[in-house]
Amino acid sequence: MITLKLLDQLESYYGPKTPCWPTDPYQFLVWWHCGYPASDEACARGWDSLQRTIGVEARHILAASPTALTKALKPGGMVPETRALRLQQIAARIVEEFDNDLSAALRASPKSARKLLKEFPGISDPGADRILLFAGIAPIAAVPSNCPQVLVRVHRQQENPDYAATYREAKAIIESDIPENFPARTRAYLLLKQHGQEICKRTKPRCRLCPINSSCKWFEASQQRTPQSILL
Ligand code: SF4
Repeated sequence: MITLKLLDQLESYYGPKTPCWPTDPYQFLVWWHCGYPASDEACARGWDSLQRTIGVEARHILAASPTALTKALKPGGMVPETRALRLQQIAARIVEEFDNDLSAALRASPKSARKLLKEFPGISDPGADRILLFAGIAPIAAVPSNCPQVLVRVHRQQENPDYAATYREAKAIIESDIPENFPARTRAYLLLKQHGQEICKRTKPRCRLCPINSSCKWFEASQQRTPQSILL
């Protein structure tokens, strides 16, 4: 249960976290397409603009012209035309296939819910896991898609260069170390996400500033190999 102790240390360092994205599954799909490249900041900019000018409900998105939708999504970054088209495709599916209630369709079983979510554009395993966890549908061991490296580095001396393998490894660590309930797993997700974005970055981790470096096997091994390679 070493991971729980590390999460306590991360929470002391970063403070308690709450999600900055909508946790309703349909709204998350919309939010995810509000920015590109997708980041919390880009998606929030596009989401705010969409809410102010058109609205985020499926009926609002379907009623908007492609030109108006594209304009609303521009603050979120690149390819707003493509994102506008995808949003209208998503909204049409939500209305026609799910009677405007995606959440109800996701409650059958985690396996079928994951499969269903991955049929939407831009949603792969990490996105599906994140939606199911934060919507309170299944306490899945979700791993932040942009930083699966954190737990793998802490627990192993070597980091796997293959993204999918790293994601699976991080997921297995959460499954074994973090209790299978919503508060514990959402807390783990949010703290690992922040740590991966700010300090344990994919490239050039800032190990000397890291509040958990005394427990990190990757850091220990790196110091022995090439002390000068550890940044900051
Ligand atoms: S010591 Fe370095 S590799 Fe280990 S968790 Fe901290 S930043 Fe990541």
